[in-house]
Amino acid sequence: MKVAVYPGSFDPVTYGHLDIIQRAAGLFDRLYVAVLRNPAKQALFPVEERVEMLRLVTSHLENVSCESFDGLVVRYAQERQASVIIRGLRAVSDFEAEFKMASMNRSLAPEVETIFMMTNAPYSFVSSSIIKEVASFGGSVGKWVPREVEERLARRLGGGGGQAR
Ligand code: ADP
Repeated sequence: MKVAVYPGSFDPVTYGHLDIIQRAAGLFDRLYVAVLRNPAKQALFPVEERVEMLRLVTSHLENVSCESFDGLVVRYAQERQASVIIRGLRAVSDFEAEFKMASMNRSLAPEVETIFMMTNAPYSFVSSSIIKEVASFGGSVGKWVPREVEERLARRLGGGGGQAR
């Protein structure tokens, strides 16, 4: 049985994430999508709500489970008996940080392999942070996030209309 974990902030989940989840779910027997509790990062949504949104948008995928975790990703992977960590790559700018993280994770746990999946072209520029920025100014983000997520963004951010001065 091949098990993978897909860790991240998912603040909130976008169609870019969902695309990676769907493709990874097709490659592994079980996929754990895990929201990292990172006190160093200021998030818009509480961890529990991020997990709830992930569960909603992946409910059609039988072999996908969504949860949160504390601490090292490799330890989490070991706990779940996963041999693979999935990460997505959008642009060259993602590479450096991902390279460092994958190298560190390999030295911590050589038996856990990091596998990168290339973004789908339509989502190559989609990130949770750009979505939050657009939504905070009242822009429509329905093309990039599921409706449930769009509604929660609107509730949290309000989305003020712009005015020239
Ligand atoms: P983190 O804070 O750990 O980078 P994110 O939630 O921003 O968490 O991203 C989780 C993973 O999903 C990362 O590997 C990131 O590169 C990937 N990812 C984010 N957006 C996209 C996208 N549009 N297409 C492909 N991969 C993506």
